[in-house]
Amino acid sequence: MTGPIPMPYPNADAPAQDLIAACVHCGFCLPTCPTFAVLGVEMDSPRGRIHLMKTVWDHRLGADSPGLEDHISKCLDCRACETACPSGVEYGKLVEGARSQIVTARPRSPLERLVRVGAFDWLLPHRRILGAFAVFSIAAKRLGMGTLLRATRLGLARRMADLLDLLPDRATSDPLVAAPAKGQRRGRVAMLEGCVMGSVFGATNAATARVLARNGVEVVATPGQTCCGALHAHAGERERARELARRNIAAFERSAVDAVIVNAAGCGAAMKEYGWLLKDDPEWSARPSVFAAKVRDATEYLGDLGVTERPGTLRGRVTWDDPCHLLHGQKIRAQPRALLAAIPGLDIVPLEEADWCCGSAGTYNVTQPDLARSILERKVANIVRSGADTVVTANPGCLMQIQSGLRHSGSNVRVVHLLDLLDEAYRAH
Ligand code: SF4
Ligand code: SF4
Repeated sequence: MTGPIPMPYPNADAPAQDLIAACVHCGFCLPTCPTFAVLGVEMDSPRGRIHLMKTVWDHRLGADSPGLEDHISKCLDCRACETACPSGVEYGKLVEGARSQIVTARPRSPLERLVRVGAFDWLLPHRRILGAFAVFSIAAKRLGMGTLLRATRLGLARRMADLLDLLPDRATSDPLVAAPAKGQRRGRVAMLEGCVMGSVFGATNAATARVLARNGVEVVATPGQTCCGALHAHAGERERARELARRNIAAFERSAVDAVIVNAAGCGAAMKEYGWLLKDDPEWSARPSVFAAKVRDATEYLGDLGVTERPGTLRGRVTWDDPCHLLHGQKIRAQPRALLAAIPGLDIVPLEEADWCCGSAGTYNVTQPDLARSILERKVANIVRSGADTVVTANPGCLMQIQSGLRHSGSNVRVVHLLDLLDEAYRAH
Protein backbone atom coordinates (compact mmCIF):
# COMPACT_ATOMS: atom_id res chain seq x y z
CA MET A 1 0.00 0.00 0.00
CA THR A 2 1.33 3.39 -0.89
CA GLY A 3 0.24 6.53 0.99
CA PRO A 4 -1.07 9.73 -0.62
CA ILE A 5 1.35 11.36 -3.04
CA PRO A 6 2.91 14.36 -1.24
CA MET A 7 2.03 17.83 -2.52
CA PRO A 8 4.99 18.89 -4.70
CA TYR A 9 4.77 22.54 -3.69
CA PRO A 10 5.16 23.46 -0.01
CA ASN A 11 2.37 26.03 0.45
CA ALA A 12 -1.06 27.12 -0.81
CA ASP A 13 0.34 29.93 -2.99
CA ALA A 14 1.62 27.36 -5.51
CA PRO A 15 1.30 28.41 -9.19
CA ALA A 16 -2.27 27.37 -10.00
CA GLN A 17 -2.59 24.40 -12.34
CA ASP A 18 -5.50 25.91 -14.27
CA LEU A 19 -3.41 29.03 -14.98
CA ILE A 20 -0.52 26.83 -16.14
CA ALA A 21 -2.87 24.82 -18.37
CA ALA A 22 -3.93 28.02 -20.18
CA CYS A 23 -0.49 28.11 -21.87
CA VAL A 24 -0.66 26.43 -25.28
CA HIS A 25 3.12 26.73 -25.86
CA CYS A 26 2.66 28.91 -28.95
CA GLY A 27 5.75 31.01 -28.20
CA PHE A 28 4.19 34.37 -29.18
CA CYS A 29 5.48 35.77 -25.88
CA LEU A 30 9.13 34.89 -26.52
CA PRO A 31 10.13 37.94 -28.63
CA THR A 32 8.75 40.28 -25.95
CA CYS A 33 10.69 38.73 -23.05
CA PRO A 34 13.77 40.77 -22.07
CA THR A 35 15.54 37.87 -20.32
CA PHE A 36 15.03 35.59 -23.32
CA ALA A 37 16.41 38.36 -25.55
CA VAL A 38 19.57 38.64 -23.45
CA LEU A 39 20.15 34.97 -22.57
CA GLY A 40 18.53 33.15 -25.51
CA VAL A 41 17.66 30.23 -23.22
CA GLU A 42 14.20 28.61 -23.43
CA MET A 43 14.05 28.18 -19.63
CA ASP A 44 14.58 31.94 -19.30
CA SER A 45 11.50 32.62 -21.42
CA PRO A 46 7.87 32.75 -20.19
CA ARG A 47 7.04 29.46 -21.91
CA GLY A 48 10.10 27.77 -20.40
CA ARG A 49 9.35 29.04 -16.90
CA ILE A 50 5.73 27.89 -17.12
CA HIS A 51 7.02 24.49 -18.23
CA LEU A 52 9.31 24.36 -15.16
CA MET A 53 6.35 25.15 -12.87
CA LYS A 54 4.40 22.29 -14.45
CA THR A 55 7.38 19.96 -14.08
CA VAL A 56 7.22 20.49 -10.30
CA TRP A 57 3.48 19.64 -10.30
CA ASP A 58 4.39 16.46 -12.23
CA HIS A 59 6.91 15.50 -9.48
CA ARG A 60 9.76 15.60 -11.98
CA LEU A 61 11.52 18.55 -10.30
CA GLY A 62 11.64 19.60 -6.64
CA ALA A 63 10.38 23.01 -5.54
CA ASP A 64 13.77 23.33 -3.82
CA SER A 65 15.72 22.67 -7.03
CA PRO A 66 18.48 25.28 -7.66
CA GLY A 67 17.62 25.22 -11.37
CA LEU A 68 14.04 26.29 -10.68
CA GLU A 69 15.21 29.13 -8.44
CA ASP A 70 17.79 30.26 -11.00
CA HIS A 71 15.31 30.61 -13.89
CA ILE A 72 12.44 31.97 -11.81
CA SER A 73 14.60 34.57 -10.08
CA LYS A 74 15.96 35.79 -13.43
CA CYS A 75 12.40 36.71 -14.46
CA LEU A 76 11.76 40.46 -14.16
CA ASP A 77 8.04 39.94 -13.45
CA CYS A 78 7.62 42.70 -16.07
CA ARG A 79 4.56 40.90 -17.50
CA ALA A 80 5.31 41.87 -21.11
CA CYS A 81 4.51 38.23 -21.87
CA GLU A 82 0.96 38.75 -20.54
CA THR A 83 0.36 41.55 -23.03
CA ALA A 84 1.70 39.39 -25.88
CA CYS A 85 -0.15 36.20 -24.92
CA PRO A 86 -3.18 35.40 -27.12
CA SER A 87 -4.39 32.79 -24.58
CA GLY A 88 -4.65 35.21 -21.66
CA VAL A 89 -2.10 33.43 -19.47
CA GLU A 90 -1.86 35.31 -16.15
CA TYR A 91 1.88 34.97 -15.91
CA GLY A 92 2.35 37.49 -13.04
CA LYS A 93 0.25 35.33 -10.72
CA LEU A 94 2.19 32.25 -11.77
CA VAL A 95 5.66 33.66 -11.23
CA GLU A 96 4.81 35.22 -7.86
CA GLY A 97 3.28 31.91 -6.79
CA ALA A 98 6.44 30.08 -7.86
CA ARG A 99 8.65 32.51 -5.96
CA SER A 100 6.73 32.00 -2.74
CA GLN A 101 7.33 28.24 -3.08
CA ILE A 102 11.05 28.71 -3.57
CA VAL A 103 11.26 30.99 -0.52
CA THR A 104 9.54 28.31 1.59
CA ALA A 105 11.33 25.30 0.11
CA ARG A 106 14.93 26.49 -0.15
CA PRO A 107 17.00 26.91 3.05
CA ARG A 108 18.47 30.42 3.36
CA SER A 109 21.81 31.39 4.87
CA PRO A 110 21.61 33.40 8.14
CA LEU A 111 22.89 36.47 6.24
CA GLU A 112 20.19 36.16 3.57
CA ARG A 113 17.51 35.73 6.23
CA LEU A 114 18.79 38.84 8.00
CA VAL A 115 18.74 40.87 4.75
CA ARG A 116 15.15 39.75 4.08
CA VAL A 117 13.97 40.60 7.59
CA GLY A 118 15.81 43.93 7.43
CA ALA A 119 14.33 44.92 4.07
CA PHE A 120 10.83 43.46 4.33
CA ASP A 121 10.06 43.81 8.06
CA TRP A 122 12.17 46.68 9.35
CA LEU A 123 12.53 49.07 6.42
CA LEU A 124 9.70 48.97 3.87
CA PRO A 125 6.71 48.99 6.26
CA HIS A 126 8.20 51.78 8.43
CA ARG A 127 8.41 54.96 6.46
CA ARG A 128 10.31 56.98 9.06
CA ILE A 129 13.00 54.31 9.33
CA LEU A 130 13.12 53.96 5.55
CA GLY A 131 13.32 57.76 5.19
CA ALA A 132 16.23 57.97 7.66
CA PHE A 133 17.93 55.08 5.85
CA ALA A 134 17.47 56.85 2.50
CA VAL A 135 18.95 60.13 3.83
CA PHE A 136 21.90 58.24 5.35
CA SER A 137 22.46 56.27 2.12
CA ILE A 138 22.34 59.38 -0.07
CA ALA A 139 24.91 61.06 2.21
CA ALA A 140 27.10 57.94 2.01
CA LYS A 141 26.82 57.97 -1.77
CA ARG A 142 27.87 61.61 -1.93
CA LEU A 143 30.90 60.84 0.24
CA GLY A 144 32.03 58.19 -2.27
CA MET A 145 31.01 55.13 -0.25
CA GLY A 146 30.05 53.33 -3.48
CA THR A 147 33.66 53.37 -4.73
CA LEU A 148 34.92 52.07 -1.37
CA LEU A 149 32.34 49.27 -1.28
CA ARG A 150 33.23 48.20 -4.83
CA ALA A 151 36.93 48.14 -3.98
CA THR A 152 36.30 45.44 -1.33
CA ARG A 153 35.26 43.02 -4.14
CA LEU A 154 32.85 41.35 -1.68
CA GLY A 155 29.54 40.25 -3.20
CA LEU A 156 27.28 41.92 -0.63
CA ALA A 157 29.36 45.13 -0.61
CA ARG A 158 29.11 45.38 -4.41
CA ARG A 159 25.36 44.94 -4.24
CA MET A 160 25.16 47.72 -1.68
CA ALA A 161 27.23 49.89 -4.04
CA ASP A 162 24.74 49.09 -6.85
CA LEU A 163 21.94 50.16 -4.52
CA LEU A 164 23.67 53.46 -3.70
CA ASP A 165 24.13 54.06 -7.43
CA LEU A 166 20.40 54.03 -7.93
CA LEU A 167 19.56 56.66 -5.35
CA PRO A 168 18.62 60.16 -6.47
CA ASP A 169 20.70 63.11 -5.27
CA ARG A 170 18.22 63.99 -2.57
CA ALA A 171 15.19 62.49 -0.83
CA THR A 172 12.03 64.33 0.11
CA SER A 173 9.33 63.05 2.43
CA ASP A 174 5.79 64.34 2.58
CA PRO A 175 3.57 62.90 5.30
CA LEU A 176 -0.18 62.41 4.88
CA VAL A 177 -0.85 64.08 1.54
CA ALA A 178 -4.05 66.17 1.49
CA ALA A 179 -5.38 69.04 -0.63
CA PRO A 180 -8.80 70.73 -0.98
CA ALA A 181 -10.41 70.70 -4.43
CA LYS A 182 -10.17 73.91 -6.46
CA GLY A 183 -13.42 75.08 -7.99
CA GLN A 184 -16.29 72.66 -8.40
CA ARG A 185 -15.53 69.33 -6.69
CA ARG A 186 -15.38 66.47 -9.20
CA GLY A 187 -14.11 63.75 -6.89
CA ARG A 188 -12.89 62.84 -3.43
CA VAL A 189 -9.87 60.57 -3.24
CA ALA A 190 -7.20 59.25 -0.91
CA MET A 191 -3.60 58.69 -1.99
CA LEU A 192 -1.26 55.85 -1.27
CA GLU A 193 1.82 57.57 0.08
CA GLY A 194 3.96 54.47 -0.42
CA CYS A 195 7.23 53.37 1.14
CA VAL A 196 9.72 54.61 -1.47
CA MET A 197 7.39 57.32 -2.82
CA GLY A 198 6.69 58.63 0.69
CA SER A 199 10.28 58.60 1.91
CA VAL A 200 12.28 59.44 -1.23
CA PHE A 201 9.80 60.96 -3.71
CA GLY A 202 7.63 62.90 -1.23
CA ALA A 203 7.80 65.93 -3.54
CA THR A 204 6.11 63.86 -6.29
CA ASN A 205 3.34 62.88 -3.88
CA ALA A 206 2.77 66.55 -3.06
CA ALA A 207 2.83 67.43 -6.78
CA THR A 208 0.27 64.69 -7.50
CA ALA A 209 -2.08 66.08 -4.84
CA ARG A 210 -1.67 69.63 -6.21
CA VAL A 211 -2.43 68.54 -9.79
CA LEU A 212 -5.51 66.59 -8.66
CA ALA A 213 -6.72 69.56 -6.57
CA ARG A 214 -6.30 71.93 -9.53
CA ASN A 215 -8.61 69.67 -11.47
CA GLY A 216 -11.37 69.69 -8.88
CA VAL A 217 -10.38 66.58 -6.90
CA GLU A 218 -10.24 66.71 -3.11
CA VAL A 219 -7.40 64.64 -1.66
CA VAL A 220 -7.95 63.47 1.92
CA ALA A 221 -5.23 62.24 4.26
CA THR A 222 -5.39 58.56 5.19
CA PRO A 223 -3.64 57.72 8.47
CA GLY A 224 -2.83 54.08 9.18
CA GLN A 225 -1.80 53.20 5.61
CA THR A 226 1.48 51.45 4.95
CA CYS A 227 3.69 50.00 2.19
CA CYS A 228 1.55 48.24 -0.45
CA GLY A 229 3.50 44.96 -0.21
CA ALA A 230 4.38 44.79 -3.93
CA LEU A 231 8.09 44.24 -3.29
CA HIS A 232 7.24 41.55 -0.74
CA ALA A 233 4.96 39.73 -3.20
CA HIS A 234 7.52 39.98 -6.03
CA ALA A 235 10.13 38.46 -3.73
CA GLY A 236 7.87 35.55 -2.75
CA GLU A 237 7.05 36.96 0.71
CA ARG A 238 3.30 36.59 0.27
CA GLU A 239 2.40 36.23 3.94
CA ARG A 240 4.15 39.52 4.71
CA ALA A 241 2.43 41.10 1.67
CA ARG A 242 -0.96 39.92 3.00
CA GLU A 243 -0.37 41.58 6.40
CA LEU A 244 0.34 44.91 4.68
CA ALA A 245 -2.65 44.52 2.34
CA ARG A 246 -5.01 44.00 5.31
CA ARG A 247 -3.67 47.12 7.02
CA ASN A 248 -4.12 49.20 3.87
CA ILE A 249 -7.63 47.93 3.18
CA ALA A 250 -8.71 48.75 6.74
CA ALA A 251 -7.12 52.22 6.61
CA PHE A 252 -8.58 53.22 3.23
CA GLU A 253 -12.03 51.84 4.10
CA ARG A 254 -12.11 54.36 6.97
CA SER A 255 -11.40 57.23 4.54
CA ALA A 256 -14.62 56.50 2.56
CA VAL A 257 -13.45 57.96 -0.78
CA ASP A 258 -14.43 57.49 -4.44
CA ALA A 259 -10.98 56.23 -5.40
CA VAL A 260 -7.58 55.36 -3.99
CA ILE A 261 -4.93 57.07 -6.11
CA VAL A 262 -1.50 55.57 -6.63
CA ASN A 263 1.35 57.31 -8.46
CA ALA A 264 3.75 54.33 -8.42
CA ALA A 265 2.81 51.84 -11.13
CA GLY A 266 4.21 48.82 -9.28
CA CYS A 267 2.18 49.63 -6.16
CA GLY A 268 -1.02 50.19 -8.13
CA ALA A 269 -0.69 46.88 -9.96
CA ALA A 270 -0.18 45.06 -6.64
CA MET A 271 -3.12 46.80 -4.93
CA LYS A 272 -5.45 46.01 -7.83
CA GLU A 273 -4.61 42.36 -7.11
CA TYR A 274 -5.38 42.39 -3.36
CA GLY A 275 -8.43 40.22 -4.14
CA TRP A 276 -6.14 37.51 -5.52
CA LEU A 277 -3.59 37.95 -2.72
CA LEU A 278 -6.25 37.43 -0.02
CA LYS A 279 -8.46 34.98 -1.92
CA ASP A 280 -7.94 32.19 0.63
CA ASP A 281 -8.70 34.34 3.68
CA PRO A 282 -12.38 33.74 4.53
CA GLU A 283 -12.41 36.39 7.26
CA TRP A 284 -11.80 39.11 4.68
CA SER A 285 -14.31 37.76 2.16
CA ALA A 286 -15.13 40.35 -0.54
CA ARG A 287 -13.40 43.30 1.19
CA PRO A 288 -10.10 43.03 -0.79
CA SER A 289 -11.90 42.94 -4.16
CA VAL A 290 -14.20 45.84 -3.24
CA PHE A 291 -11.13 47.81 -2.19
CA ALA A 292 -9.14 46.81 -5.30
CA ALA A 293 -11.93 48.09 -7.55
CA LYS A 294 -11.32 51.60 -6.15
CA VAL A 295 -7.59 51.65 -6.88
CA ARG A 296 -6.57 53.94 -9.77
CA ASP A 297 -3.21 54.98 -11.07
CA ALA A 298 -2.95 58.79 -10.90
CA THR A 299 -2.52 59.00 -14.70
CA GLU A 300 -5.48 56.66 -15.25
CA TYR A 301 -7.77 58.63 -12.92
CA LEU A 302 -6.85 62.08 -14.21
CA GLY A 303 -6.70 60.92 -17.83
CA ASP A 304 -10.22 59.45 -17.59
CA LEU A 305 -11.56 62.47 -15.70
CA GLY A 306 -9.92 64.93 -18.10
CA VAL A 307 -8.06 68.08 -17.10
CA THR A 308 -10.27 71.09 -16.47
CA GLU A 309 -7.49 73.62 -16.09
CA ARG A 310 -5.13 73.94 -19.05
CA PRO A 311 -1.50 73.49 -17.98
CA GLY A 312 1.02 76.25 -18.72
CA THR A 313 3.50 76.03 -21.58
CA LEU A 314 6.74 74.06 -21.21
CA ARG A 315 9.53 73.83 -23.77
CA GLY A 316 11.58 70.79 -24.66
CA ARG A 317 11.70 67.51 -26.50
CA VAL A 318 10.18 64.79 -24.35
CA THR A 319 9.46 61.09 -24.67
CA TRP A 320 7.31 58.69 -22.66
CA ASP A 321 8.53 55.37 -21.24
CA ASP A 322 5.81 52.94 -20.12
CA PRO A 323 6.41 51.47 -16.65
CA CYS A 324 5.85 47.69 -17.06
CA HIS A 325 3.37 47.54 -14.22
CA LEU A 326 1.38 50.40 -15.72
CA LEU A 327 1.26 49.05 -19.29
CA HIS A 328 1.46 45.29 -18.81
CA GLY A 329 0.27 45.04 -15.20
CA GLN A 330 -2.63 47.52 -15.42
CA LYS A 331 -3.13 47.80 -19.20
CA ILE A 332 -2.89 51.60 -19.04
CA ARG A 333 -1.51 53.05 -22.25
CA ALA A 334 -3.60 55.93 -23.56
CA GLN A 335 -4.14 58.11 -20.46
CA PRO A 336 -0.51 59.04 -19.65
CA ARG A 337 0.12 59.84 -23.31
CA ALA A 338 -2.99 62.05 -23.38
CA LEU A 339 -1.88 63.89 -20.24
CA LEU A 340 1.57 64.50 -21.70
CA ALA A 341 -0.02 65.78 -24.91
CA ALA A 342 -2.16 68.16 -22.81
CA ILE A 343 0.94 70.19 -21.86
CA PRO A 344 1.34 72.93 -24.49
CA GLY A 345 4.73 73.60 -26.07
CA LEU A 346 6.27 70.14 -25.71
CA ASP A 347 7.77 68.36 -28.69
CA ILE A 348 6.80 64.74 -27.98
CA VAL A 349 8.98 62.18 -29.75
CA PRO A 350 8.43 58.41 -29.87
CA LEU A 351 10.60 56.06 -27.84
CA GLU A 352 11.50 52.77 -29.48
CA GLU A 353 10.65 49.85 -27.17
CA ALA A 354 8.86 52.15 -24.73
CA ASP A 355 7.00 48.99 -23.65
CA TRP A 356 10.27 47.20 -22.81
CA CYS A 357 11.42 46.84 -19.19
CA CYS A 358 14.26 49.11 -17.95
CA GLY A 359 15.63 46.37 -15.66
CA SER A 360 14.49 47.93 -12.41
CA ALA A 361 11.73 45.42 -11.56
CA GLY A 362 11.52 45.84 -7.79
CA THR A 363 14.80 44.60 -6.31
CA TYR A 364 16.01 43.04 -9.59
CA ASN A 365 18.84 45.51 -10.11
CA VAL A 366 20.24 44.35 -6.76
CA THR A 367 19.50 40.60 -7.06
CA GLN A 368 20.45 40.26 -10.76
CA PRO A 369 22.84 43.18 -11.34
CA ASP A 370 24.44 41.90 -14.57
CA LEU A 371 21.17 41.12 -16.33
CA ALA A 372 19.63 44.36 -15.05
CA ARG A 373 22.59 46.26 -16.52
CA SER A 374 22.25 44.65 -19.97
CA ILE A 375 18.53 45.41 -20.06
CA LEU A 376 19.12 48.97 -18.87
CA GLU A 377 21.77 49.59 -21.54
CA ARG A 378 19.22 48.74 -24.22
CA LYS A 379 16.75 51.21 -22.69
CA VAL A 380 19.38 53.97 -22.40
CA ALA A 381 20.45 53.48 -26.02
CA ASN A 382 16.83 53.87 -27.16
CA ILE A 383 16.35 57.02 -25.07
CA VAL A 384 19.52 58.61 -26.43
CA ARG A 385 18.50 57.65 -30.00
CA SER A 386 15.08 59.28 -29.52
CA GLY A 387 16.76 62.70 -29.27
CA ALA A 388 14.63 63.64 -26.26
CA ASP A 389 16.04 65.90 -23.57
CA THR A 390 13.52 64.58 -21.01
CA VAL A 391 12.15 61.10 -20.47
CA VAL A 392 8.86 60.92 -18.62
CA THR A 393 7.62 57.90 -16.69
CA ALA A 394 5.49 57.06 -13.64
CA ASN A 395 7.17 54.64 -11.26
CA PRO A 396 9.92 55.24 -8.67
CA GLY A 397 11.95 52.15 -9.66
CA CYS A 398 11.99 53.23 -13.32
CA LEU A 399 12.90 56.83 -12.37
CA MET A 400 15.92 55.69 -10.35
CA GLN A 401 17.04 52.96 -12.75
CA ILE A 402 16.83 55.07 -15.92
CA GLN A 403 18.45 58.07 -14.23
CA SER A 404 21.32 55.90 -13.05
CA GLY A 405 21.76 54.35 -16.53
CA LEU A 406 21.77 57.73 -18.24
CA ARG A 407 24.25 59.15 -15.73
CA HIS A 408 26.62 56.21 -16.29
CA SER A 409 26.41 56.63 -20.06
CA GLY A 410 27.39 60.29 -19.73
CA SER A 411 23.99 61.53 -20.93
CA ASN A 412 22.33 64.55 -19.33
CA VAL A 413 18.78 63.58 -20.37
CA ARG A 414 16.45 64.40 -17.49
CA VAL A 415 14.09 61.77 -16.03
CA VAL A 416 10.85 63.00 -14.50
CA HIS A 417 7.57 61.62 -13.16
CA LEU A 418 4.58 62.66 -15.30
CA LEU A 419 2.78 64.20 -12.29
CA ASP A 420 5.87 66.31 -11.51
CA LEU A 421 5.93 67.53 -15.12
CA LEU A 422 2.23 68.39 -15.02
CA ASP A 423 2.73 70.24 -11.73
CA GLU A 424 5.63 72.12 -13.32
CA ALA A 425 3.38 73.07 -16.24
CA TYR A 426 0.67 74.36 -13.89
CA ARG A 427 3.25 76.39 -11.99
CA ALA A 428 4.44 77.85 -15.32
CA HIS A 429 1.09 79.59 -15.62
S1 SF4 B 1 7.58 38.61 -16.83
FE1 SF4 B 1 9.00 39.61 -18.27
S2 SF4 B 1 10.99 38.63 -17.87
FE2 SF4 B 1 9.43 37.34 -16.92
S3 SF4 B 1 8.93 35.80 -18.46
FE3 SF4 B 1 7.45 37.48 -18.75
S4 SF4 B 1 8.38 38.83 -20.29
FE4 SF4 B 1 10.00 37.46 -19.52
S1 SF4 C 1 2.11 33.39 -25.58
FE1 SF4 C 1 0.88 32.61 -23.86
S2 SF4 C 1 0.16 30.60 -24.56
FE2 SF4 C 1 1.83 31.18 -25.93
S3 SF4 C 1 3.69 30.27 -25.00
FE3 SF4 C 1 3.54 32.37 -24.19
S4 SF4 C 1 2.40 32.16 -22.27
FE4 SF4 C 1 2.07 30.24 -23.44
